[in-house]
Amino acid sequence: MSDSLVEMPILSKPAAVAQPLAAGVVVLKSGNEILAGPSGQLPTIAECQAAGVPLKDVLMAAEVGGLPCYGAAALPAETAVPHPFKIVNPRAFLDGCGTVWRQAAIRALELMTWRQEHLHCGCCGSSMRLNPEDGAMRCTKCGFEAFPVLAPAIIVRVTRGDHEILLGRNRHFNTPFFSNFAGFVESGETYEDAVHREVLEEVGVKVQNLRYFGSQNWPFPHTLLAAFTAEYACGEVRPDGEEIVEADWFDIRHPLPPVPQPGSISRAMIDDFLASQRRF
Ligand SMILES: [Zn+2]
Repeated sequence: MSDSLVEMPILSKPAAVAQPLAAGVVVLKSGNEILAGPSGQLPTIAECQAAGVPLKDVLMAAEVGGLPCYGAAALPAETAVPHPFKIVNPRAFLDGCGTVWRQAAIRALELMTWRQEHLHCGCCGSSMRLNPEDGAMRCTKCGFEAFPVLAPAIIVRVTRGDHEILLGRNRHFNTPFFSNFAGFVESGETYEDAVHREVLEEVGVKVQNLRYFGSQNWPFPHTLLAAFTAEYACGEVRPDGEEIVEADWFDIRHPLPPVPQPGSISRAMIDDFLASQRRF
């Protein structure tokens, strides 16, 4: 996170955020870490204020149980984290929090990233300010407005017959585990086009019989994942060596290698295939 973001003024209505609330606040430190409160969940604004955690750039992101939940990008890297607060990895935090909080935290993370990326106008380079009337970042000179957007992406589970699943290990995974295949939808493509292209590019395999499985928001950054299942059509598995460094067919009647944590749609698709096996 840039220092300029830390120094930005509070963007939402000050009266709204001055009230102590039971709802949580997402506080980012250094752009890639999140502050967990004394309970291990999102801290409340009151808890932050009582502990002297500086909250700036507060922006309401969602309602949780009827109470507003806020995002805040306000903790400079040099700020000491007061006990019993702690810094956690955002991905691990999302894995561990409940569904409702997860949705609010994802929305807050996405909005903060969007705001950080729109401090200056893409047309004339002048400063942008949040327009509270429509929620857009508006250029102070030319009036250009930028709204939050999501990047469409796909993830696909490829199976062969009743027992085999094709999984790959991505070079960029922090820990070595095997997962389904994913990528962004390119300009001019449909979701289906992207599924066929990604699988062919990453592992050299053609697929068929695509079915929609579900979707998931993924705030690293602002991505909307559409998940599909597909059946193997033809081709030999050849990892591209760039993104996918290892890939193979795994028989689900035997133990699988490490796979994504529960909570991700990738894991849900793998579990769904395992559940289908139990029906045989
Ligand atoms: Zn402008």
